[in-house]
Amino acid sequence: MFNKILIANRGEIALRVIRACREMGIQSVAVHSTADADAMHVRMADESVCIGPAAGTDSYLSMPAIISACEITGAQAIHPGYGFLSENARFVQIVEDHGLTFIGPTAEHIRIMGDKITAKDTMKALGVPCVPGSDGGVPTLEDAKRIGAEIGYPVIIKATAGGGGRGMKVAQTAAQMEQAFMTARAEGKAAFGNDEVYIEKYLTTPRHIEIQVFGDGKGNAVHLGERDCSLQRRHQKVFEEAPGPCITPEERARIGKICSDAVAKINYIGAGTIEFLYENGEFYFIEMNTRLQVEHPVTEAIFGVDLVREQIRVAEGLPMSFTQDDLTINGHAIEVRINAERLPNFSPCPGKITAFHAPGGLGVRMDSALYTGYSIPPYYDSLIGKLIVHGRDRNEALARLQRALSELIVDGIDTTVPLFHHLLQEPDIHSGQYNIHWLEHWLEQKFG
Ligand code: ADP
Repeated sequence: MFNKILIANRGEIALRVIRACREMGIQSVAVHSTADADAMHVRMADESVCIGPAAGTDSYLSMPAIISACEITGAQAIHPGYGFLSENARFVQIVEDHGLTFIGPTAEHIRIMGDKITAKDTMKALGVPCVPGSDGGVPTLEDAKRIGAEIGYPVIIKATAGGGGRGMKVAQTAAQMEQAFMTARAEGKAAFGNDEVYIEKYLTTPRHIEIQVFGDGKGNAVHLGERDCSLQRRHQKVFEEAPGPCITPEERARIGKICSDAVAKINYIGAGTIEFLYENGEFYFIEMNTRLQVEHPVTEAIFGVDLVREQIRVAEGLPMSFTQDDLTINGHAIEVRINAERLPNFSPCPGKITAFHAPGGLGVRMDSALYTGYSIPPYYDSLIGKLIVHGRDRNEALARLQRALSELIVDGIDTTVPLFHHLLQEPDIHSGQYNIHWLEHWLEQKFG
């Protein structure tokens, strides 16, 4: 059993892990950059270690500094949160080489899923439905044109090493293939050092539906239904909900079983998310994230489970504390991501918080590392909080979201809170009728 865990992250997700540790009677170690000396995760952890200067590359991404912090404090395991080193296979290997435990999947699973072609091949072989497209990499423009003609336009060209929406280009017609192919390759090379690309049919009006899976590393796995994360801006999720407003119990059971069987077969350990595009009743795999997701609380709300506690348990070699039959959905949950950004351009807006008040009451959860007097540093992601509401049904969750947003006070900086006040006026949000392009179109109409 672990008695001390180091959290290699900052912000709300560091607090999330510290909270789980405290409830399990495990000591927590925060690491921080010099810019984060006053951060909430440092105050809330049992111990803290400064691991470097402000820039993430010199602190939260510094593997030697994080390993040293474990050695100094005697932490036996590392929880990576999301982002930073959470999907870095080399880091996992180094952690293990030092006799420490990485709370997450194996280096091998991270490696497989980190390369999109390998991930897709693996999932296909495991019986997971994929977007029609090229069989593996597409080496030349001639191949690209031939495949484009075969699968039919529009198509999307994707860098196998891509991520965060980079290294993807759409060709609407054959005439656009050359430009799209060359650009995707160049972006892959520049951003990820790998110019290999592959081609997929471009789906025009899909929803983003992702399945939460969980494995014990010993061939047992479950699924915890879906989250609908279709409301996106520049491929960044903004509003997430569970269950998906358009998914039937039969569809959930079918795709959920395909996913849990797939991860069971590869002895996957810990939390994972299998992402799909969903169009006309069909699911199409796009990628797997081998970590805890930002939006995991909506799943926790409707299933009444603590996913971080579960991650720690299986990392200790314990069995999962639930079986598939124990997992039943209760009500509906919605999360909105609150960023320190100024509308309408979403430009970053760091600065000093002159007043902060978190909403409360039945069915309201606010995961945030803000406090009155805190200065948000300009060096990191602009996510400053997640507001999660849970209701008996979707309408109650929406009403509760509106009520909770009206209680929230974040003074001193601009945030994305007004965006959600506007969105809650939209009939499409209330009816659940939106696809992955809805938000971008709406923003364009609203703000130009
Ligand atoms: P990344 O790793 O960069 O996030 P993904 O493969 O997860 O890339 O795709 C990100 C987003 O790009 C998806 O959520 C979707 O909006 C869009 N996308 C990806 N593949 C397709 C496709 N075949 N058709 C339509 N949209 C796609």
